[in-house]
Amino acid sequence: MSLTIPDARRNASPYLYGREAASVARVLEAGQYGHTDLTAEFERRISAYLGVPDVVAVSSGTAALHSALLATGIGLGDEVIVPSMTFCATVQAVRAVGAAPRFIDVDPATLCVTPQLVMDAVTDDTAAVLPVLFGGRAVDLSSIREDLAERGIVVIEDAAHAFGSHCGPKHVGADDTALTCLSFGPVKNLTCGQGGAVIPRTPEEAAAVRRLRMLGVTQSQSERAETTSYRVEGFGLRYQLSSINAAIGLAQFDHFDATVRSRRHLWRTYRDALDALEGVTLVDVDLGHTVPHLCQVRVPHRDHVFAHLRARNIGVGVHYPPNHLQPAFARWTRDLPATEQTGREILSLPFHQHLTEADVHRVVTALGQALKATGGS
Ligand SMILES: *Cc1c(COP(=O)(O)O)cnc(C)c1O
Repeated sequence: MSLTIPDARRNASPYLYGREAASVARVLEAGQYGHTDLTAEFERRISAYLGVPDVVAVSSGTAALHSALLATGIGLGDEVIVPSMTFCATVQAVRAVGAAPRFIDVDPATLCVTPQLVMDAVTDDTAAVLPVLFGGRAVDLSSIREDLAERGIVVIEDAAHAFGSHCGPKHVGADDTALTCLSFGPVKNLTCGQGGAVIPRTPEEAAAVRRLRMLGVTQSQSERAETTSYRVEGFGLRYQLSSINAAIGLAQFDHFDATVRSRRHLWRTYRDALDALEGVTLVDVDLGHTVPHLCQVRVPHRDHVFAHLRARNIGVGVHYPPNHLQPAFARWTRDLPATEQTGREILSLPFHQHLTEADVHRVVTALGQALKATGGS
């Protein structure tokens, strides 16, 4: 295996600060890889940082979404309002509880849902709304919060992109009228290698997710070691965050301020460099409040621009092909013009912390050439 530092050939990449491998080695040698004190410490550090009473760590962002839906009783016969413009994991979590996704459009400027788009889609069967904090940008549904609550509709945020971002003065996750789901996957703002978390609204929800993630068993590992039995209190899955992954997350978290600075600087560098290009629209992330997860542009002839850049070793990507056009979700498809047009135009530029300013300029120069070559400007 050749080890080369990730550069603009990669669209996304984790970034190690140096102590991760030693932290993992200590856990491996200590010989306890399940939910341990390290997992609990990770939960405490995250909750203190976000200013929330509790955080429940789980094995992935998908597990967080699935657990949040289960903990709030969403299931068969329920409809969940969800943007089509998201990673397929959001929709698969809805399907995992047997609920029907009700796909909605997004604001083309932000790729996020708006209060109006959500309210327009509410039906008698709506049990939950699942806004996606696209690219890290907060989604403020406070104007319809009471309306939704009166109808018994729960808000579960997919904040997989948005760890560290703010909604107004507060961190994303600190709004106690919604459950918030985080991902600590390989290329997210904070990585555990693999991991996720649910920020519950109440202690009861926290307990429900803790039970779900441990196969329905409520006693801790040390309590279980003291007795000849254990109690299975209800449905559950193997969704706990391994101490191996918690160790990576803790080592990363020590440097999160640097991550925030670095990601914002990178996004700003792209913004300034892209200013000189005609025919390119940058998807705004509200940088003042956001720890950016992606840098996306809209371009004409996207597929040709994509192929041109890939042929020149520029790691462009597409986040995301619309879900309502996927075969798996064909039953729930509908006309979503803004999403369909967006799906044809968006392009994600390489965005990770290994990139230098020179890399960014190289990418933007190549993008300009691609637009010329494909007749885009
Ligand atoms: C990454 C991601 C998820 C799923 O998180 P995993 O940790 O990969 O399971 C869900 N939604 C969105 C928008 C994501 O980007």
